[in-house]
Amino acid sequence: MKVVILGGGESGVGAAFLAKKKGFDVFLSDMGEIRDNYKNELKDLGVDFEEGQHTEERILSADWVIKSPGIPKKADIVFKIKNQGIRLSSEIEFASEFTDAKIVAITGSNGKTTTTSLIYHILKEDGFNVGLGGNIGKSFAKQVAEESFDYYVLEVSSFQLDDIQTFRPYISLLLNLSKDHLDQYNYDYEEYALAKFRITENQDQQNFFIYNKDDEMSQKILEKLDLKVNKVPFSMSEKLDYGAYATDSNIFVNVEEQHFEMKIEELSLMGKHNVANSLAASIAGKLLNISNESIRNSLMTFQAVEHRLENVAEVHGVRYINDSKATNVNATYFALESMKQPTIWIVGGKDKGNDYTEIEELVKKKVKAIVCLGVDNQKIIDFFKNDKEQIYDTSSMEDAVKICSQLAEEGDTVLLSPCCASFDLFNGYEDRGNKFKAEVLKLIK
Ligand code: ADP
Repeated sequence: MKVVILGGGESGVGAAFLAKKKGFDVFLSDMGEIRDNYKNELKDLGVDFEEGQHTEERILSADWVIKSPGIPKKADIVFKIKNQGIRLSSEIEFASEFTDAKIVAITGSNGKTTTTSLIYHILKEDGFNVGLGGNIGKSFAKQVAEESFDYYVLEVSSFQLDDIQTFRPYISLLLNLSKDHLDQYNYDYEEYALAKFRITENQDQQNFFIYNKDDEMSQKILEKLDLKVNKVPFSMSEKLDYGAYATDSNIFVNVEEQHFEMKIEELSLMGKHNVANSLAASIAGKLLNISNESIRNSLMTFQAVEHRLENVAEVHGVRYINDSKATNVNATYFALESMKQPTIWIVGGKDKGNDYTEIEELVKKKVKAIVCLGVDNQKIIDFFKNDKEQIYDTSSMEDAVKICSQLAEEGDTVLLSPCCASFDLFNGYEDRGNKFKAEVLKLIK
């Protein structure tokens, strides 16, 4: 069997590990540069590879092509592979064919990493032999090659669901839908939503699909599709007899004749969006027969994932929060909504066609001063100048944090939740968040 892998990052090199272990004839091709550590791994494995090009002849002679999520679905080579009728799979689907472990797979527009990590935490704390993968950490394929877990909790992006034929999670979750990555889906929101719904495509009566009952597009699609899977809804606005819901003070779960209840103030994560994430995660916990006590403990002890409403420090009575991963308006909406103290808000970066109307009311209500941080801050300044007197224009993290520390009074919160991508000034959201934390820690000295 000739296997060709497109992409030489974590997921492609992981697929190479697994393919090699299965005794396949493996070739890896990357249009860009492959990082040295990955090149060394491929050499050690004895996998033939190329970079800076796709040699079509070789790729199109494959029996099975494994595509990394970073390869655009509209790339010329992808089109040719499909045209020749060659089987094309994502790394997730490829790996899932070589394990009998039960899979919990999480997708959605926002909250995937948080909810995936939360469910992993619940299972791990309860003693499950469980791996964490997908878009997080070590690739799923490499884990399947090297470990023998009974369960996997996987973060799955829509790109990894493209072209699936067999991927069948025991439990799948679709957290929410909001307009993102539409350029990859012909600017058609429903097409993007349907791509995410593919997570449940191969599931049957023995499986579960957890979905957001408040999400209009999800409802619309569910009415159209005739799904065999057990559907389990959660809602933040409606009391449900089956599924999970929240009131102002509590969360409630009722599934498969099991009941779980917990006070929202006991949840370790902040914000309404995290109540929704906790509802979804608790359903998964109950479907896996985890005790209420164990789920409660895990929801109380879970630490926010880095760069997602991460508590950095309290300096002179001012709290600093890093939400650098908020790269769209919807994510920032929930960050602002969860603020209880007067907030000094750091916003800006590479604009992706943002419409700030969605958060204008919240900004008026919660934000004391706006500190713009980007190469071009004009759009944000123009939008908010009638709402807020205090708007500052900065283009370095050092200046932004310095201004915040001068403006902040005891009891205030400084929130980095940029609404924008980071590539104008930083090497990614992690780099932006790390620089923020470094500047905040300097204030302590
Ligand atoms: P993803 O992996 O889907 O990008 P993350 O867990 O990394 O999601 O969170 C990304 C951003 O979205 C963070 O700013 C986070 O605070 C916010 N967020 C988390 N959960 C939700 C949710 N359920 N709805 C809206 N925003 C959310």
